[in-house]
Amino acid sequence: MDSLALSRVEVADQPAPTIVDEVARLARRDLAPLALAIDAGSAYPDALLRGFGKIGAWGSHVPQEGPADLRCAIQSIAAIGEVCGATAFMAWCQNTLVWYAANSTNLQLARRFGDSFSSGRVLGGTGLSNPMKSFFGIEKLKLKGRKVEGGYVVKGALPWVSNLGPDHFFGTIFERDDDGGGIVMFLADCSDPAITLQPCKPFLAMDGTGTYGVQFRDLFVPDELILVEQAAPFVKKIRAGFILLQTGMALGLIKNCIEIMDEVEAPLGHVNRYLPQQPTQFRELHAEFEKEAMALASDPYNSDDSYWRRVVALRLRLGDASVAAAHAAMLHCGARGYLKSHRAQRRLREAYFVAIVTPATKQLRKMLAGDER
Ligand SMILES: Cc1cc2nc3c(=O)[nH]c(=O)nc-3n(C[C@H](O)[C@H](O)[C@H](O)COP(=O)(O)OP(=O)(O)OC[C@H]3O[C@@H](n4cnc5c(N)ncnc54)[C@H](O)[C@@H]3O)c2cc1C
Repeated sequence: MDSLALSRVEVADQPAPTIVDEVARLARRDLAPLALAIDAGSAYPDALLRGFGKIGAWGSHVPQEGPADLRCAIQSIAAIGEVCGATAFMAWCQNTLVWYAANSTNLQLARRFGDSFSSGRVLGGTGLSNPMKSFFGIEKLKLKGRKVEGGYVVKGALPWVSNLGPDHFFGTIFERDDDGGGIVMFLADCSDPAITLQPCKPFLAMDGTGTYGVQFRDLFVPDELILVEQAAPFVKKIRAGFILLQTGMALGLIKNCIEIMDEVEAPLGHVNRYLPQQPTQFRELHAEFEKEAMALASDPYNSDDSYWRRVVALRLRLGDASVAAAHAAMLHCGARGYLKSHRAQRRLREAYFVAIVTPATKQLRKMLAGDER
């Protein structure tokens, strides 16, 4: 590790901010009883998401006159993820929306939405999977827009956007079809009649995440909702934060899988010790990943290529480790974990989401192969 990275780790050794303790407390008290219903898709925890916002869970990474620090946000997502992977994902959605508004060059927009997003008064997410894939040559942009008086008109559809509801907002990108392919990033207002939220078919997990297919039927996007006219450099600025915030989902899930393995040590340790993967190995991995995540998260605007590759590599390893830890937890639990009421099988289903949500394992591997457009 180079000297710059070492100095970041030293900073990361400071005591955890109290917001994280508060988030963990609320997660154990109010989220744990809801986790099964969220997993089953019968509950979308909007009140709880607003509650997390009230105690500062969505605001700590807002840049203060220059630098930004994502450590507290990641630790908060991890604390939520220890209890419920779906809610950790919604926490990522909300934090990412805050990240877009906080970095927007449209100061009027930042003033109008900054506080409402970071306090959780207004909820929402991000529709950047398709653009993120398009930047790496995986698919074409699905939204098209053209300039009109006072804004743009946008049409197209996104197959999945999460943490949505009738009064929610999300950040996404369209390609101008009147200007040789320039890309513009904007806030979509779900209450606009030109936007339709289409319920999705049931998923393997994540059904309580307010995930919809979103159709834009000639939506007028006023200038006030434009996050940035030139989206390409903006995305380069925010992309490390976008990915690093996802590390919280994985860190929380892996930690809980270690706890699950520890819980069955007393009754089953005599035979579980023959399994190739033991909680000690995952504890070491978790500590290594957490240290690297905290080091990278204290410097999210670093534009060095070596920094970016570390972010991508960490995200890839965390996706792999999430699936491995959840798989190991299943094997350690045996029949106990095969019960629908046991969280081991839920954690396994949630772990696959960490590995497939954009940037998915295959995209991360493409990125590390240097196959970037
Ligand atoms: C539960 C859930 C929540 C998600 N939330 C968000 C979100 O909040 N924001 C966001 O931007 N993305 C979201 N996504 C998308 C996600 O980030 C990934 O893009 C997606 O999982 C696929 O990624 P992939 O790289 O494996 O692509 P692949 O699966 O290899 O390819 C994806 C493409 O295949 C096509 N496709 C495949 N299956 C279907 C289908 N059933 N319906 C329609 N098209 C299909 C589409 O063109 C799609 O773009 C969500 C996905 C899921 C499953």
